[in-house]
Amino acid sequence: MKKQKNIVSFSGGKDSTAMLLLMIEKNIKIDEIIFLDTGMEFPAMYQHIKQVERFIDRSITILRAEKSFEYMMLEYEKQRGKNKGQKGYSWPDFRNRWCTSYLKKQVIKKYLKKYKDYEIVEFHGIAVDEVKRLEKNNEKNVRYPLAEWNITEKEALEYCYNIGFNWDGLYNNFDRVSCWCCPLKNLKELKTLYLKYPVLWDKLKEWEQKTYRKFRSDYDILDLEYKFKKEGLDKNELQCSNSKS
Ligand code: SF4
Repeated sequence: MKKQKNIVSFSGGKDSTAMLLLMIEKNIKIDEIIFLDTGMEFPAMYQHIKQVERFIDRSITILRAEKSFEYMMLEYEKQRGKNKGQKGYSWPDFRNRWCTSYLKKQVIKKYLKKYKDYEIVEFHGIAVDEVKRLEKNNEKNVRYPLAEWNITEKEALEYCYNIGFNWDGLYNNFDRVSCWCCPLKNLKELKTLYLKYPVLWDKLKEWEQKTYRKFRSDYDILDLEYKFKKEGLDKNELQCSNSKS
């Protein structure tokens, strides 16, 4: 029988942070903690990862794809299919999350080959009240400790806050913290991005000039900006300290 390796898949979000800390608290064996870095996390998230490393007094393995998000989105030349020669995958959408596949799944698959002689058990931070995600992600060799312990998303966040982690307020601004450039964010989150993170918003505008697809099928970035302005909000008045990110 193969020996087991317990790998914590750490996204840095509230759920995987709570899961990791509770696993340590409960003395569950952890062989490696891995973080898949798309390069597109909010600056506060990178700070958080360093804080967690200090808190748990062990290092987190940071994994990255060979090419950056920006390169794949804008520069990569397609090698096959009807769009052969086209530059970049452009913005991800619900039908084509190329970034999830290229920047995350392929990277982890390749990395975990080093454990080919072991039975790998991955630990993912999905809370008990994320029913759809739990159903969808019900993979063999993956465990969901928060769900096993009946811990909800709210409880996971409270647990982290009580320890002193606050992601520089990211969870006050967004329900779900993912890549800042993600077009799959809902309109409320995009409005927050526009109002509170103008430097990042300007980057989206810059990228949109360089690619062939609209940011979203219903709105491009300038449409969104117009919409948010029309809603009577002046981003300059509402910038918070995070705007320097
Ligand atoms: S959060 Fe959005 S941009 Fe980031 S990897 Fe997932 S789908 Fe892609």
